[in-house]
Amino acid sequence: MDIPRIFNITESAHRIHNPFTPEKLATLGAVLRLEPGTRVLDLGSGSGEMLCTWARDYGIVGIGVDMSQLFFSQAKLCAEELGVSDRVEFIHGDAAGYVTDEKVDVAACLGATWIGGGAGGTIELLAKSLRPEGIILIGEPYWLRLPPTEDIAKECFANAISDFLMLPELIASFGDLGYYVVEMVLADREGWDRYEAAKWLTMRRWLKANPGDDFAKEVRAQLTSGPKRYVTYAREYLGWGVFALMAR
Ligand code: SAH
Repeated sequence: MDIPRIFNITESAHRIHNPFTPEKLATLGAVLRLEPGTRVLDLGSGSGEMLCTWARDYGIVGIGVDMSQLFFSQAKLCAEELGVSDRVEFIHGDAAGYVTDEKVDVAACLGATWIGGGAGGTIELLAKSLRPEGIILIGEPYWLRLPPTEDIAKECFANAISDFLMLPELIASFGDLGYYVVEMVLADREGWDRYEAAKWLTMRRWLKANPGDDFAKEVRAQLTSGPKRYVTYAREYLGWGVFALMAR
């Protein structure tokens, strides 16, 4: 079981697979006022940076589920590196339908809400693992500016303009689902640059090491057009943030 291979290539050197910097992740942990022993579930936990740094810095205990064999392995290494292997558990598998045996204080899905078929379905899934008065964290893109055409939306990692909302509509949508937004931390351009630009050096090195690979053509195409495409479109039009929700 694994995710599409292209992500395991382009994001193999990422510790954080979204437009958050380490500082933003730390800010998120701080604004949530996490207490030692807080139980955190993370669906689509990637390379484990959030759970591992929060375990080190705030004393949380965590469970992460991720379908990428590579990111799952990196998450376990991260836990060892940061000395928190006794407090965080990583599971390699499909997080769709994953519910914890014991309820958690914080249930998160950052940048992987397709796991529940969209933000609404993912919130419903996370709620099944959450104790009463617990916090749900959702990391989602939104439009900074509405793309003037569907073609421009397609250049921004979307299939259509309707894939994402503007920030006020996104915030309102959480209310419609029966939740208060109780905190939020928004990515900035530096974070987007770290997430996107880090792929370019990774791809260049991968191409050097794997010239005959079946994916070389696709990776070369992405490396050739990716930087200009990114600065022209996603960098101008796309925002990303993590929203902390509590039931109304
Ligand atoms: N939350 C992490 C990773 C975000 S990238 C971070 O912010 O760093 C999206 C992640 O979802 C990837 O790690 C990918 O492997 C994982 N993923 C995709 N589909 C999945 C599924 N069905 N179940 C579990 N993980 C999945």
